[in-house]
Amino acid sequence: MTLVQSMTLEKNTRSNRVIDHIKGKKGGPTVVFFGGVHGNETAGVFALKNVFGEIRSQKTQVNGELYAISGNLGALESRQRFQDEDLNRIWLPERIERIVINNEIHHNEENELNQLYLLVQDILKKSNPPFYFLDLHTTSSDTSPFIVLNDSLLNRKYASNYPLPIILGIEEYLKGALLSYINELGYVSLGFESGRHDDNKAIKNSIDFIRYSLTLTQSLDASGREVKRLMGEIAKSSKVSQKFYEIYHQHDIEPENDFEMYPGFANFQMVPKGTNLALVDGVALKATKKRQIFMPLYQKQGREGFYFIRPIPKTWLWLSKKLRRFKVDHILVKLPGVDWETDKKDTLMVDQRVARFFTKSFFHLLGYRARKLDKNHLVAKNRESASKHEEYTKTLWFNQ
Ligand SMILES: [Zn+2]
Repeated sequence: MTLVQSMTLEKNTRSNRVIDHIKGKKGGPTVVFFGGVHGNETAGVFALKNVFGEIRSQKTQVNGELYAISGNLGALESRQRFQDEDLNRIWLPERIERIVINNEIHHNEENELNQLYLLVQDILKKSNPPFYFLDLHTTSSDTSPFIVLNDSLLNRKYASNYPLPIILGIEEYLKGALLSYINELGYVSLGFESGRHDDNKAIKNSIDFIRYSLTLTQSLDASGREVKRLMGEIAKSSKVSQKFYEIYHQHDIEPENDFEMYPGFANFQMVPKGTNLALVDGVALKATKKRQIFMPLYQKQGREGFYFIRPIPKTWLWLSKKLRRFKVDHILVKLPGVDWETDKKDTLMVDQRVARFFTKSFFHLLGYRARKLDKNHLVAKNRESASKHEEYTKTLWFNQ
C-alpha cells in the first residue's frame, strides 16, 4: 500500500497498483484509467477512488469491466514527478524489450514500467474488447482542462465527443509516452489534463471526465439528462473553445541548461511578439512572433520547457480524413524514390531527394509520422494501419 497525499495536503489515501477493478454482470467494454503516472499529479488517483467508490456503494450496474490503476507508485509516495527517470518517456519498443524480456531493471521507473506492462498485457488477454485507455494528468501551470492524443482517425472520432479542446500530435515531440505505446497497439487512448497540480478543481474535473467517459463507452447506463448534465459540467470547466489544435514547436531543456519560465503564463495564452518567455542560462528567450503558449513548465523536473500550438482549420481535418480513407499513400509509392519498407505496407521509405518536396504536414495529412532514417532516407510510419476499428464499430459513439 502506498500513501498518496493530495498536492493541496488536504487529503490522503492509500493505494495499490490496482486501485480498483469492477467486473459487471453484463458484457461490455473494458475501460482502463491510469492516475499518477507522474507522482506529483495526484488528482486522478483521488478522482478514481471517488467514482469507483460511489459505483460500489450505490451498487450501480456496470457493463463490462473497469480498471483504475496507479501509475508511478514510488513517485506518488515521495510526491515527485518521478524518482530516477520520467515514467511517461520510457515506453519505447527497445526499452520495453530490455526491461520486460531481458529483465534489465536498473532503477525505480524501470521497475514501475515492468509491473504496468505486465498488468496491461494481462488485461488485454483476459478482458473483452472494445478497450479504452484513459490517462489522467495535471499540469504545473494554470490551465483550462484539455485532451491530448496521438493523431489517428479512431482517436479523433472518439475524443470529439468531449466538449473540450483537443491537442493532436504530441507524440511527434514527446517520445515514449505510455499512451503512445498503447495507441500503437491500435486501441482508443487519450490523456486528460484536468488542471493545475494543486488546484482543487482538478479533482472535480477528473471526476466529471471519468463519469462522462463511462457513459460514452456505455460502461454505465445513464439517462439522456444525466449525460447532458455531465457534458454541461465539463463544458463549463473549459475556458478555451472546443477545437482541435496542433503542436508545432517544443522547447527542449538540455541537461546542461538552466531553465526558468517567466512567471504568470497560463496554458493556451496568446503572447504577443517580443514577449519574454523564459530565462535560458540567464538569457531571455523572446517570442519571435505572436504565439499561443502550451504547457509552460513551472516545476523543476521535466525536459520540455513549453510548446507552441495553433488551431487546426476544419478543412484540414476533413481533408486528412478523406486522404487517409482513400489511402493516397498507395498512389504515392508509384513515385520514384518512394517504396514500402516491407510487405506489411505500413511504412514508407522515401529517398531524401524526393522527400524534400514533401513537408512534414503533408505526411501528417496522410496519417504518417515521418523521421529521418539516415542522410539518404526518410521513413514514414502509418499511424492508421494499427487502429482496431472493427472492435469499435458497434459502439454508439462510432455510429454517430
Ligand atoms: Zn503528467
